[in-house]
Amino acid sequence: MLDEELLTVEREVIGDIWQSGEIYRNMLYMADELGSRFPGTESERKAQEYLLKKLREYGYENAHADEFTYYGWKRGPVTLEMVEPYQREFEAIALAMSPGGEVEGEVVNLGTGSPEEFEAIDPETVKGKIVLCSSATSPSGKRVHRRTKYGYAVEYGAVGFIFMNHNPGQLPPTGSLRPAYKMGGEIPGIGVSLETGSLMLRLAKGRALKVRFRDESRVIPNAVSANIVAELPGTSKKDEWIVVGGHYDGHDISQGAMDNLSGTAVTLELARALKRYEGRFKRSIRFICFACEEIGVTGATCYVDKHKDEMKDVAVMVNLELGGLAYKDGTKHAAFTVYQPPELKEKLKAFIDEIGYPTSIHGGTSAASDHWPFYMQGVPTLYMHAELSPQLLIVGRGWGHTSADMMDKVDPRNLQEGAMVLVRLLLRLANQEEKIAKHTPLDEIIRHLEETGMKKTLEIQKKWHPHSVR
Ligand SMILES: [Zn+2]
Repeated sequence: MLDEELLTVEREVIGDIWQSGEIYRNMLYMADELGSRFPGTESERKAQEYLLKKLREYGYENAHADEFTYYGWKRGPVTLEMVEPYQREFEAIALAMSPGGEVEGEVVNLGTGSPEEFEAIDPETVKGKIVLCSSATSPSGKRVHRRTKYGYAVEYGAVGFIFMNHNPGQLPPTGSLRPAYKMGGEIPGIGVSLETGSLMLRLAKGRALKVRFRDESRVIPNAVSANIVAELPGTSKKDEWIVVGGHYDGHDISQGAMDNLSGTAVTLELARALKRYEGRFKRSIRFICFACEEIGVTGATCYVDKHKDEMKDVAVMVNLELGGLAYKDGTKHAAFTVYQPPELKEKLKAFIDEIGYPTSIHGGTSAASDHWPFYMQGVPTLYMHAELSPQLLIVGRGWGHTSADMMDKVDPRNLQEGAMVLVRLLLRLANQEEKIAKHTPLDEIIRHLEETGMKKTLEIQKKWHPHSVR
């Protein structure tokens, strides 16, 4: 419970966020003027400058770019040709971290490309061939990450990988194949739309489908990028840090408006709205706009690697992968996932009951966003989930990772509401007397990942390195 003084701060901050149009202004500028902010592009460099400029304008003299090196990637043109049952060309785009190259071979349709579908077949039937699978939810109801599907294809000796969107709209998907903090892809991978993939499969019904594709993309070792960081020092508990933020990069084929300019704009807004109360909060807050998330959670991983000694002082990490509120039965609500420790769920529930907002709080484990490297260091981690309005809702990732993730999908009022809920949460996290949550020891984390089958998934994705950050 906040004291009278902080309740007044809370009222002012909520009013300020609702009154200000800053979230939308920042998003419009970054999306429409600067573009995708994809790693290694001019757009990324300008976005870094803009984020630093805004944070300094909000009063953060300590705002800085925290650099790291990684495996960069440059998209090249792709040609896709069906050679059997007859010759015909189709539209396709490269998947991020594809090493490029030209391949020709028979296509093996692996359905959704889930582990159970791969494990049901003999690896020999895939060797030397091209794997085709879709982004649809697996037959067992699990959403399997593209990097897992690609990992299996490589493991089984495939020479190429075709990833088909399961949402309609003639939208070939992109997405990364390997973690760029460690490596590039081994075999070329391309994305095709639901319509293109389905057409090829219909044409080849009952006979062999053979394709040739050429991808001119390439991996660029020793690329340099930077996370953008600003700090609001606390008072009596200033050595305990609350880390809050999300990734600012988007995929290069769109504006990455929801994924994840929305989370970036909300991070900036929290930083802006809280700055004038510096000296009133017990704990310190570190705002981080992470780079290179779309190529394997690379910015956050490199950040944690560089600041490993500080992880014991991170009281909690709040990941904003998308900003705003979610929907449940058509109604807006705040949706949280607590990754660890489980007790944090109860604490969060108490906070949310206090602020009287419709909420859902889940548990779970996911390696596919910026909380992950913090999680592996034992840091209490949670994630606030946002969605497009139900009128715009399509299944799964929706428009994310396609050319349709543009500003016209963004509801700025929803983002403001998300920021308002978050700021109330931050005020409580920053000021509560008792410890927020305990850190989880590594052996406990490893045991959990083994028990849930995550270890195997991470091995396939080349992300299993529990004793080193990157
Ligand atoms: Zn994202």
